[in-house]
Amino acid sequence: MAIQVTVFLAGLALGSFLNVVITRLPLGERVWAGRSRCPRCLAPIPWYDNLPLVSFFLLGRRCRSCRARISWRYPAVELAGGLLALALWARFPGGYPLLVYGPFAAGLIALTGLDLEHRWLPDVITLPGIALGLVFSLVFPHLTFLEALAGTLAGGGIFFILGWSYEKITGKMGMGGGDVKLMALIGAFLGIKSVPFVILISAALGSLVGLAAVLIQGAWRRGGWRTAAIPYGPFLAGAALLYLFGGGEFLRLLLLGD
Ligand SMILES: [Zn+2]
Repeated sequence: MAIQVTVFLAGLALGSFLNVVITRLPLGERVWAGRSRCPRCLAPIPWYDNLPLVSFFLLGRRCRSCRARISWRYPAVELAGGLLALALWARFPGGYPLLVYGPFAAGLIALTGLDLEHRWLPDVITLPGIALGLVFSLVFPHLTFLEALAGTLAGGGIFFILGWSYEKITGKMGMGGGDVKLMALIGAFLGIKSVPFVILISAALGSLVGLAAVLIQGAWRRGGWRTAAIPYGPFLAGAALLYLFGGGEFLRLLLLGD
């Protein structure tokens, strides 16, 4: 039990750091330097107001100096960090895959937050991520290098072709370059076998949520169906995590029954 608590707390702390990444990268600020400040009044945030999960509620969702609302994104990302750390520990207790999938999951959380808030999957995360995934396949036995490389090329390649054709046919930007690189990153960490699952499940999740958003907004009543502009990165990240936690085996059981 003690080890699970430690893992959860480490995950919360990591989530806290990922919040810094999500806040500072779009502002062009350095991630590693300087104390956290309130985005509105710029007052430095003391450590006791910066405790993961706890401070958000103790402060009543407001900055201590200027009373500005604090975004739900902060506790959400911290909790995601804590829960994913626990889930990874449960699946790979103390094993080397934690070294591979820990950074992978952290990257997915940061990219999800950035895509939701800024429609942005920055190269500064995705490109080193792809390289790291390929290097990990050389160092650790979870994948062969060939599986990782094929995953990167197939994942990125399929998305590139899909986005390119969509643009040619409709004249609109469909899939961003960031989605292509994120899919390549997922292929590098999860291998070629994950690619069909991740594409299928992310598309299914995206369609469901997109449809729900259109229905909820009542957008169809005003001038027909409108493409709800929902960022795709979070669905890719979600599908990748589902695969990591056994989604591929589950789907095979469901479809083939063996
Ligand atoms: Zn403030």
